Amino acid sequence: MKPAAFGYLTPRTREEAIEVLSRYAGDAKVLAGGQSLVPLLNFRLTSFRYLVDINRIPDLDYIRSEQGYLAIGALARHRSVEQSAEAARECPLLPEALQFVGHPVIRQRGTVCGSIAHADPSAELPALLTALGGSVVLEGSSGRRVADAEEYFLGYLMTAQQPDELLVEARFPKLPNGSGFAFEELARRHGDFAIVGVACAALPDGSVRLGVCGANSVPFRPLKAETAAAQGDLQEAGRLAAADSDPDSDLHATAEYRRAMVSKLVERAVRHALERKEGNARG
Ligand SMILES: Cc1cc2nc3c(=O)[nH]c(=O)nc-3n(C[C@H](O)[C@H](O)[C@H](O)COP(=O)(O)OP(=O)(O)OC[C@H]3O[C@@H](n4cnc5c(N)ncnc54)[C@H](O)[C@@H]3O)c2cc1C
Repeated sequence: MKPAAFGYLTPRTREEAIEVLSRYAGDAKVLAGGQSLVPLLNFRLTSFRYLVDINRIPDLDYIRSEQGYLAIGALARHRSVEQSAEAARECPLLPEALQFVGHPVIRQRGTVCGSIAHADPSAELPALLTALGGSVVLEGSSGRRVADAEEYFLGYLMTAQQPDELLVEARFPKLPNGSGFAFEELARRHGDFAIVGVACAALPDGSVRLGVCGANSVPFRPLKAETAAAQGDLQEAGRLAAADSDPDSDLHATAEYRRAMVSKLVERAVRHALERKEGNARG
């Protein structure tokens, strides 16, 4: 199938992009790597009067180490982040999670910020951003603002981003030295979207952070499970995370199965993260 006809706009600056997004607000859509948007257009599951291709805006392609967080610009591809020495050093859970995102050809083109803006509840990166308490930077006609992950993701493919806003940067908090981390996922085949996925960071202060995808309409942090995990009760952590989940049944799995998998994967991710943390401490 072919997409419905659309106008194709190629702004050269962020200001130009925001100007056209705001001029056609609601009827214009940002095109980044196209790995989610183009299939939706081709299947005619969505259509827009204008596509605003941001690929010609050079200052959006960066990976930067900032005070306390790793900044990923809107045009940084999955693959560059996966191979980035800075990401490996400052937030190694990010390259680890990226290995579960599609296949290398998809990661070559798809962007980290595109994955976040797309807000698929089964996607890995929104769960990771949520687990770490990260944020996104949005620029629109009324200025620039920073939104925490937990206020940004609103529902299935729905975010707090306004139609005239560009997601210019995702901020992943750095993992302090001595942290342990793990990303665990269940998918039918490697590279498929997760049935359920769990991001876990075990921090040097003894706290544990978790983010779950595939078990709710948004990625979420199971807070009671984090407390149980920090106390070393892994089974209870799994049970509490499953109790906090609210999955739907679909073609891939029943709600009951997803909930059972949340329990198992939380247990496994926490165990793996704590083992790595211990290994780091022994140095
Ligand atoms: C076969 C296949 C398997 C896949 N498997 C997985 C998987 O396992 N896990 C996973 O997470 N993803 C998976 N994906 C999706 C892939 O990761 C996409 O690259 C990603 O979801 C979107 O990034 P993109 O840059 O391609 O965005 P696009 O497709 O260009 O855009 C996606 C959406 O985000 C919006 N958007 C993008 N960038 C911005 C921005 N800077 N500001 C505002 N809005 C923006 C667009 O308007 C659009 O609504 C898969 C895709 C395919 C084709």
